[in-house]
Amino acid sequence: MAEMNNSKFQLERVRAPVTNEELISDLQRVAKLAGTNAVSFRLYSEFGNYHPSTVALRFGTWNHALRTAGLEIASERDITDERLFENLMRLWEYYGRQPRFRELAQQPSVISAGPYQRRFRSWMNALEQFVMYANAQDVRPPAPVEVASGHKTGRNPSDRLRFRVMKQDNFSCRACGASPALRLGLTLHVDHIKAWSLGGETVEENLQTLCEPCNLGKSNVL
Ligand SMILES: [Zn+2]
Repeated sequence: MAEMNNSKFQLERVRAPVTNEELISDLQRVAKLAGTNAVSFRLYSEFGNYHPSTVALRFGTWNHALRTAGLEIASERDITDERLFENLMRLWEYYGRQPRFRELAQQPSVISAGPYQRRFRSWMNALEQFVMYANAQDVRPPAPVEVASGHKTGRNPSDRLRFRVMKQDNFSCRACGASPALRLGLTLHVDHIKAWSLGGETVEENLQTLCEPCNLGKSNVL
């Protein structure tokens, strides 16, 4: 009993238990501090204001706490190649060019450099594997409702097809030439040249990259 009373810090924590929100915001603080979206139990035990097991117990599991905080799960066994590639795709589109290694550590990247290094050994190899992934064709039958409408393809391109079209167009709007590479934050759309509603198919030849302003302007005209 005497020992407990000596520990003033613990006594205070018993009186005012930390809320879930405080735990989450502390997880996010550590992520920001360490410049990573994947906070491991060990990293948190170094920089966190609370004991990591307190966090894990409160949210059931450590990974669940991370998900609640909007962070990446730290265990890379759970990160599939596909998710590593999807993250690269997101960065490529965001920057309008091949992403750089250091850009993994900042938004909008949701997976830090570590898993890429361990999975692919070098950044160049990761990019090469990614290009193979992006160039692979999707084998996905169109949804029944789309078959009924007489289409051979579904309305929405897969992420890979979207990426290939934008890559082909050098991540630039085909109407005005704008690119996120020159104007960071610009949103690109992949648009049907012959509208899908008019029988246009979702194939590379019938798709083009448009910037958001041009694409929205176009839909207003139609
Ligand atoms: Zn444009």
